[in-house]
Amino acid sequence: MTSSPGACDDPPALLAAVSSRPAKPGSADGCRRSRHDAFRGRAEHCPLRPRTASNDPGAREVSWEPVIGLEIHVQLKTRTKMFCRCPAGFGAGENTQTCPVCLGFPGALPVPNRLALEWVVKLGLALGCEIAPRAVFARKNYFYPDLPKGYQISQYDLPSCISGKMLVPLPEGDHAVGIVRAHLEEDAAKNVHVGGRTGRIGGAEHTLVDYNRGGTPLVEIVTAPDIHSAEEAKRFLQLLRQTIVELGISDAEMEKGTLRVDANVSVRPAGTDELRTRCEIKNMNSFTHIARGIEAEVARQIGVWESGGEVEQHTYDFDVATGTLTPRRAKEEADDYRYFPEPDLVPVEPPAEMVERLRGELPELPAARIRRIGELLDHERALVLVTGGLERLWEGTVAAGAEGVAASNVISNQIVGAGVDPSVVEPAELAKLVAARERIPRKAFDEAISRIGEPGFTADPFLAQEAVSDTAALEPIVDKILAANPAQVEQYRGGKDGLLGFFVGQVMKETKGQADARAVNELVRAKLGA
Ligand SMILES: [Zn+2]
Repeated sequence: MTSSPGACDDPPALLAAVSSRPAKPGSADGCRRSRHDAFRGRAEHCPLRPRTASNDPGAREVSWEPVIGLEIHVQLKTRTKMFCRCPAGFGAGENTQTCPVCLGFPGALPVPNRLALEWVVKLGLALGCEIAPRAVFARKNYFYPDLPKGYQISQYDLPSCISGKMLVPLPEGDHAVGIVRAHLEEDAAKNVHVGGRTGRIGGAEHTLVDYNRGGTPLVEIVTAPDIHSAEEAKRFLQLLRQTIVELGISDAEMEKGTLRVDANVSVRPAGTDELRTRCEIKNMNSFTHIARGIEAEVARQIGVWESGGEVEQHTYDFDVATGTLTPRRAKEEADDYRYFPEPDLVPVEPPAEMVERLRGELPELPAARIRRIGELLDHERALVLVTGGLERLWEGTVAAGAEGVAASNVISNQIVGAGVDPSVVEPAELAKLVAARERIPRKAFDEAISRIGEPGFTADPFLAQEAVSDTAALEPIVDKILAANPAQVEQYRGGKDGLLGFFVGQVMKETKGQADARAVNELVRAKLGA
């Protein structure tokens, strides 16, 4: 493909340019054009909510609105690969899960994975998509070492799912994000660049290829540019991830690469519906990093426009450590993947009864549950419970008599903080602890939480412990601590109120966590005020 003169003088750039496969869909190909049309078509429906994005109060009074679309790749957790019977998944030794089909031997023929064909429909239904009565696999041709066939099989102009919409519950109400398409494709193999500092190709001494990943099923989801802040992007992705996990079609873990996200970002003057040049950001491995990457890119683009420049189309890697964006490659004008229908596969025509069966199997989706629980608690707590997979425990704990907000706080903070698996916690025991948490010593409460996941756990021994709140018992200890720290006492009386926590902490330490913190607080305050 790219064979412009001079390309050989710059091997990393050439290799980067040709590496535009799965996680990096083509740049100027027809697929992109069709997305662009969708981009235009959607623009007028975008809610125009002005956001002042300028950091420079001295600048012209222009407020900028970010326009963000996302491309998400999800690795399906089918037992076998997309077009052969090799096991899909992690953990096996390099190049042990391969066969003539996924290694691209001449004459080997692909056979589609039935479960993957069902799962993309299931996901499409959950995303409110129309399910295409006829979807077609195509060959996307390019040369790269991790693609032994010389082409990737991917749905192209006739994808399985189109025109969906996901309603993202936000504190101010639902925000609709259009789903342009969701389609099936196969993943490429994995290149491992050895000897460099960064693990990337630049500076590496050599590259190894592990073909185990080659041919595993992926779904690519493309959103309309309906997202207008980094925070909205994060909320959308949290919800999408939870939906995918609950459908049981993928573990969708960013750190393992089973969920990968690229963001297309542009900005425009708030109140307009124009679409300016957008840039793509890649290489972000958590939702927080994605939000930070988007924020950095938005700020960069506003800076370019406000200084009289023009944003050029580029792909950037976001460096989490430094918060900087590094240009990956200029978009070539004519990436030509020479798509054509895969001649070895028949079109996918999902039977209507299968689609209806899958529709009937859809569970109550996370968005609906965030709304429902949000009415009982508040939006933020509901979001944390649902997207954290915590709400079943919360519901059980509340049903066992715990107060809702207190139960939510203990689960989202202490249970999660202690690394306890919420699915093994007995809600009735947790409800007892939630109710007693102000009464029993902090130390007993923390210990109970850390052990609540153990088989046969019961809260009773911890509930039997009473915090020492008796002034007569605490007074000598407080006196001792104050006498031992005269300098701090003087500073406190001189106005350094923050030292109160120091004294309380010393008393708690002296009592080995058995004292009632509130009683100690009052006592110390009273003594120092005297
Ligand atoms: Zn295989």
